[in-house]
Amino acid sequence: MRLTAIGTAGSFPGRGALASCYLIETDEDTPTRIILDLGSGALSPLQETIDTDRLSGIVLSHLHPDHCMDMTGLYVKHCFNPKYFNGDISDTGTIRTPVFAPAGAKERLFRAYYTDPGKSPVANGGDDSDFDHAFEFTDIDHGSRHQIGSLTIESFLVDHPVEAYALRITDAAGKVITYSGDSDECENLVEAAKGADLFLCEAAFQEDRDTARGIHLTGKRAGRVAQYAEASALVLTHIPAWTDCSIVRGEAAGEYRGPIELAKPGATWTV
Ligand SMILES: [Zn+2]
Ligand SMILES: [Zn+2]
Repeated sequence: MRLTAIGTAGSFPGRGALASCYLIETDEDTPTRIILDLGSGALSPLQETIDTDRLSGIVLSHLHPDHCMDMTGLYVKHCFNPKYFNGDISDTGTIRTPVFAPAGAKERLFRAYYTDPGKSPVANGGDDSDFDHAFEFTDIDHGSRHQIGSLTIESFLVDHPVEAYALRITDAAGKVITYSGDSDECENLVEAAKGADLFLCEAAFQEDRDTARGIHLTGKRAGRVAQYAEASALVLTHIPAWTDCSIVRGEAAGEYRGPIELAKPGATWTV
């Protein structure tokens, strides 16, 4: 399977990189194509990379805006294209993309989209079931395992101020890509990345500068998790605009003995 970085900026869109979004595609005759997260601004480069109508599924690690907010844009793209929309949202014949996300995702996105509860931009009034016209929601939970095409997605509860999951994606050949989502160091994250062929891991914090715990990994802690998990390769991502990537990478290199790369928009990795 192939991983493409779409949005790699940490916590908010940065210069030259939008917020979290990653595409995973299989190389079968009928490929499975999923995205992990669709953060602020990421719908733009995503459309440069793939026809969003052809996604097999979307998996959201958690419901912070830098990981899910462009779902509101994709909702509009699915439902209100004038080619199909005739003023009645229930009859637009839209694409319904499966979405796997923490419980409450639909309500969260609905609140973000509509200006007033119960008021809709469409004539017939809106409620959160409007999002069912664009997406088919399934809750993820710790230990849950879902199949999207030929990919298996397992979710592991991690250490973040909101309900958040690391995602372990296994293809038909048994190759594994693990995505940390947002997390501090924890046993479940090590478990999620155990023996992964590629570990895409956030490193939003810097040692000796960001002292808060239970939110993000430093480069050092990301490297330590990758080493404990014996992942074959580490790709650091979600580094905010105010952080020098080389410092975070150096921290990780002090802990992890495998190859380390920094995620950049458009970069691809095949496992
Ligand atoms: Zn984040
Ligand atoms: Zn977060």
